[in-house]
Formats: sequence, structure tokens, C-alpha cells
Amino acid sequence: MRKQIWPFLAGLSAFLVLILFWYLNKSPVTEEVSIPVPKGQYVDAGELLHLTEVLSNDALAGRGIGTPGGEAAEGFLRKRFETLGLTKIGESYEHPFTVLPPADAEEGAPTHGTNLIGIIEGNAPGQGKMLAITAHYDHLGVIDGEIYNGADDNASGAAALIAVATWFTRHKPEHDILFALIDGEEHGFLGSRELVRSGAVDMARVALNMNFDMVSRSDVNELYVSGTYHSPGLIPLVEQVAADAPVNLIMGHDRPEQEHDDWTLGSDHAAFYEAGIPFLYFGVEDHPDYHQPTDDFDKIPVGFFVNSADTLVMAAIAADESLDTLDLTLREKEPGPETE
Ligand SMILES: [Zn+2]
Repeated sequence: MRKQIWPFLAGLSAFLVLILFWYLNKSPVTEEVSIPVPKGQYVDAGELLHLTEVLSNDALAGRGIGTPGGEAAEGFLRKRFETLGLTKIGESYEHPFTVLPPADAEEGAPTHGTNLIGIIEGNAPGQGKMLAITAHYDHLGVIDGEIYNGADDNASGAAALIAVATWFTRHKPEHDILFALIDGEEHGFLGSRELVRSGAVDMARVALNMNFDMVSRSDVNELYVSGTYHSPGLIPLVEQVAADAPVNLIMGHDRPEQEHDDWTLGSDHAAFYEAGIPFLYFGVEDHPDYHQPTDDFDKIPVGFFVNSADTLVMAAIAADESLDTLDLTLREKEPGPETE
């Protein structure tokens, strides 16, 4: 008997191995299978996620402009500027501004805010065209006792801006790049309008604004870039980035006939657009947690976010390299709906 059972067992084992292979090959990857988080080709995924989680923590109480939570967020981000050694404009990265409340302002309306501004110098500091990268760090704060953490809107964009700055501190750009973390976006682009009109930055040198606002959430791997309708000369740049990007980078949301889906006046890039400066605005499609207390860090699909941030670095590299050759003509303005 012993002599005969070994071939039988060997045959049985081979059969079981075959069954196992068949099963592994046939069974599709289900959502329960955890997909490893990409480490990031251009960004440090751990840093990106950590900063986003910190900014959207309940402790910062939704980062409302002029609130202690907003100031704490500003402090975290200022530390990053210090660590990266960005060049200051004036004495400090902090550029505080006063908000003149309208006559019918409600109690608790913001009275002051702070933009954070730093520069990474290119080959000819202080000269030539400049790229301005912006992201707002404020959010809605606390409303009716509920904290609006704004993880996607816009802890994600602020953290992505830091990731882009980190890249360029290690890979010197050709042009000066302005990095501005904006306060008061949620109250009508207060910080970006201040930045554009204050004179702190020579806006005549700003050839292009790249604005990040809500860049971490998509179930379908899609990141939109808005602005090429107004500046068709930017299409080749976007096409070049899209060809290699780990997310589907889709042009759109910038035509007047799209009405409320036209994002031309939807975030801080509006202040640049209104000043005659071309823009590329990067953001995801609205989701059910948009401007809700449920816009939390644990809702972020981290794999998409890391790929999205990688794409933003790729776009910034491409923009810096082609800033002198791009056709940056802005189409004649057409009226569009104002949204926030
Ligand atoms: Zn936003």
C-alpha cells in the first residue's frame, strides 16, 4: 500500500496546486483587497498624507479665517516653509491683511487673515517670468456646533503645494516660483484678491497661476484641469503632462455655457484671471462631502491622492520648463457665473 499512496498524494498535490492557480487567476481583485499605497514618484506619500491629516484634524476646528484653528494651521505650514528654506518677500512668510467687513456683516465675520508667501529662486532670481502656485488653507470652521474639517477642501491642496515646493528645493527650477498658501478663500477669495492687489508680489512677472483646490478625491481616477478654454496656448502643456500622468488629467470646467459647472470663478485662480493672468486650476469633481462636516481625512482614497500630487509636480515641472515658449494669451473675457 505504501508504495502506491505516494504517487496518489503527488498527483493530489499537483491537482490542488492547479486548483489554487485557477482560483487566483479567475478571482478578480475585489475592493476588499487592500491595494498598496503608491510611495510617490515625485512626492513623499508619507509626508503628503501626514500634513493633510494634521490640517484636517478636529483640533484645528475647520481652519476658519481669523480663528485660533486657522492660525494653528498657518503655523504648521509656516514651519514647512522655514524647513524648506523658501525665500521671503520682506521680513516674514506671513502677509497679514485686514478684511473690511461689508455694512451688513454678520457677527463673527472675519476681520483679518494671513497669506503665507515664499519663493524658490530660478536661474535669474528676481528677473523674468514667474510661476505662481496657490492653494488655500482656510476652510469653513465650525457651523452650528459641527466642525467642517475640509480634508479635501483644501487640506489636500495645501499639502500638495508643500510637496511641489519640496520637489523644487531639491531640483532647482529655471524660473522663480512663487508659493502662496491663501487664507479666506471660503469668504470670497479674500486672500488671493489681497495677494494680487497688495503689491507685495510683482504681478507683472507672474506669467501663469497654478491653483490647487480639492485634489484628493476621485473614485474614477480623474483630476480636472480648468483654464485651457481661456488660454488655448496651454493645451500642449496639459497634453504633455496628461500623456505620462498616473491619473486621468482632463481639461474642462471652464466654458461659460457650462454655467455652474464652469469653475473659472470658482477658487483663488479667479483673482489672477480677473487681473489678466492665465491660470490652470486643478481640482476634482464635486462629491457628496463637499462643504459638509463629513469632508474628513478618512474619506480620502490615498492611492489617488498620491498620484494626483505626483501629477501636480509633473505639471509644475512642465510649466517651469516651457514658461518662456508657451503662448500665454488670454482669450477675451466673457461673463460667467460666480461661485465659491
Ligand atoms: Zn476650496
